Amino acid sequence: MPDAVRPLIAGNWKMNGLRETGQALAQTIAKRRPGQACDLLLCPPATLLEMVGAALTGSGVLLGAQDCHQEIKGAHTGDVSAAMLADVGCRFVILGHSERRGEGHGETDADVAAKVQTAHGEGLVAIVCVGERAAEHAQGATLTVIESQIKGSLPEGVTPENTVIAYEPVWAIGSGRTPISEEIEAAHKRIRANLGARFGTPEAFRILYGGSVTAANAPEILSIHGVNGALVGGASLDAEAFCKIAESCG
Ligand code: PEP
Repeated sequence: MPDAVRPLIAGNWKMNGLRETGQALAQTIAKRRPGQACDLLLCPPATLLEMVGAALTGSGVLLGAQDCHQEIKGAHTGDVSAAMLADVGCRFVILGHSERRGEGHGETDADVAAKVQTAHGEGLVAIVCVGERAAEHAQGATLTVIESQIKGSLPEGVTPENTVIAYEPVWAIGSGRTPISEEIEAAHKRIRANLGARFGTPEAFRILYGGSVTAANAPEILSIHGVNGALVGGASLDAEAFCKIAESCG
């Protein structure tokens, strides 16, 4: 990994895992604690946060959530607040995942920015996802789309300590397809330039790649200039695959 920033390998379990399987997965990863050259983060579903947090105690593996509401508390049936996540031991929260934007849950850039601000207020590090759809990729609009998402999804007060960006092409998520290395490098470069122009210290930001990362393609993806780790969906449900991805960092 050529970049000075310590990489982050984050597992997004999405809506997968019951108590028995979730605990076993977390315990296996905590025991092996792979990839000493990177930070490791598990983002299980909300029902498993407490149990996974307990399984990770003392391992150095971090705990995160997959979403939060933009309000601190109130009449929002079914939602989880940033304060609740911090209370249960989360350090990170994924925000603006493509499965929550658009047709999934209709979240806009402004919604994401509001959530990021709330997460920061509770001391959480926001992992903000951006990425183009298949048609936008085909039209060559990738850089325009992600630039617009970066501008709209980040509130004032963003720093390299409180915010991580995940470049996740929507068409690459769960599809087994990935952009070519040059496309990933160009996307990360554009994101970094936008962060630098608005918040300063561009090189200090962690920008992850996400979308069909596997044990097989991780060494190549993680060696791309400007890639500071990975957000891993499907492969994070397999302890062996997730550990191998982390070990690709060295
Ligand atoms: C994701 O949904 O964040 C993701 C990267 O999924 P996958 O690794 O399965 O493509």
